[in-house]
Amino acid sequence: MIAVSIGRTRHKMVLAEHRALADRGAELVELRLDWLARQPDLSRLLKERPTPVIATCRRQIDRGRWRGSEPQRETLLREAIVAGAEYVDLEGDIAGHIPRYGKTQRIVSHHDFDETPKNLDRIHARLAEKDADIVKLVTMANSPGDAVRMLELVAGARVPTVGFCMGELGIFSRILCGRYGAPFTYATFNRERVLAPGQLTFDEMKHLYRFDSITNDTLLFGVLGDPLGHSLSPLVHNTAFARDQLDAVYAPVRVPQDALSRTLDDLDRLGFRGYSVTIPHKEAVLERFGRPDDPAWEIGAANTLYRDEQGAWQVMNTDYQAALDSIRLGLDPDDEGRLTGKKALVLGAGGAARAVVLGLVKSEAQVTIANRRGERAAKLAEQFGCKQVQWENRTTVHADILVNCTPVGMHPNLDDTPFDQNAFLEDMLVFDTVYNPENTLLLKQARERGCRTVSGVEMFIRQAAAQYERFTGRPAPLDTMRDALRRGISPVRD
Ligand code: NAP
Repeated sequence: MIAVSIGRTRHKMVLAEHRALADRGAELVELRLDWLARQPDLSRLLKERPTPVIATCRRQIDRGRWRGSEPQRETLLREAIVAGAEYVDLEGDIAGHIPRYGKTQRIVSHHDFDETPKNLDRIHARLAEKDADIVKLVTMANSPGDAVRMLELVAGARVPTVGFCMGELGIFSRILCGRYGAPFTYATFNRERVLAPGQLTFDEMKHLYRFDSITNDTLLFGVLGDPLGHSLSPLVHNTAFARDQLDAVYAPVRVPQDALSRTLDDLDRLGFRGYSVTIPHKEAVLERFGRPDDPAWEIGAANTLYRDEQGAWQVMNTDYQAALDSIRLGLDPDDEGRLTGKKALVLGAGGAARAVVLGLVKSEAQVTIANRRGERAAKLAEQFGCKQVQWENRTTVHADILVNCTPVGMHPNLDDTPFDQNAFLEDMLVFDTVYNPENTLLLKQARERGCRTVSGVEMFIRQAAAQYERFTGRPAPLDTMRDALRRGISPVRD
């Protein structure tokens, strides 16, 4: 179950949001009484409530907004119990002076906005002693390991426990706590109404992560990276799981640069089965798990970590094949996918460029690399036996295929392009690895000049699809994944 928190200053708005949430399928709503500007009118809020409620009134030391006195707050909580609220939230230090009454269930809570203390067990035991029906323990994650410890506590608790970590590093614990026995998690009405750091919206929790269907058997996957703020991988993978009716969930796990090894060990205790790996961990996972004959060594980076049938971790780089397949999509059908002898100009010399250049070279294309910092282009060109051209001279290259592997033109810099629109050659194939927006200025201008184009959306879904196949052992629903990605980037599409 998902408890959706409503924090509004006017009763009228609380009632409207409560009704809207019930219409959207919410089954439990937390009324944050401390947000109301006027004295809370419980009879008005509870009279025709469309769902069960948790009555909560946070004081300011717990980052709430209550401006009345403490005796007034405790009186209000008692009144909520007498009025028959289904749940009341009582902080551990006051729960002892508010007696049980009627059918109202007591959530005895503790919040720590700074850290996840070492003695979680002791804090939990103290809360449970206060005649708790449910213990709620919410702390700040300063590492992904903090969130793992919290989930382990939830799993071992004798009293039903809602336990998860705040902050970006703890987001996955909000999504996964139900798997370890938490009776519910918390979410917000929408993005504008985030009441605590790292909170997800009701729609994300219900429809993207399918919180209500996560059980102890649900297979765990995720994306490891930092930053992960706007990663579209959870949307693409979870949509595919739902379409294939798989009991699996894919969560964002933000892992700081220096914490990868430790975090992987911590996550192992939760039973994760596979990961997408992104910046800044692509090299480190290869070094830790790569075998000498892994093709990913040639690229120098891995973007996938999965367990094989024996349960051993394996690495893979799915960008390489995805880039190559995307380029082939744009070839003239008469070429039958052949790249032999084609002249390709690759812009950029970072991770994406390495995958693209390797694919092209292996397919016997003649590759020229241009990069803003020339020495990087020279190094890459030397390694793969290609040519190099100065960034300033890139438009002078006579190429059949142009590939952009720089972020130029990516949201929000929609008016930027890495190429001169007068330099496109007719019949050129232009492939932009940028996928947000799908229709970059580079691609728009290329089409105006009569070029064939392929967008980064094709590469993104293909690299995700190859991961999906490793994760699940079944073919990926490519069209479903493409639609999901397009939905994710639609606010900036034109
Ligand atoms: P990266 O390793 O950081 O490399 C970035 C490259 O872009 C470097 O060569 C850099 O040049 C160049 N660059 C950055 N800003 C530039 C600018 N303002 N003008 C000219 N060149 C610039 O990043 P990456 O992993 O290769 O990713 C690059 C882009 O590829 C991403 O932004 C993403 O849009 C795209 N990508 C797409 C997919 C997909 O599945 N569609 C997958 C991976 C990446 P310097 O060396 O001079 O800094």
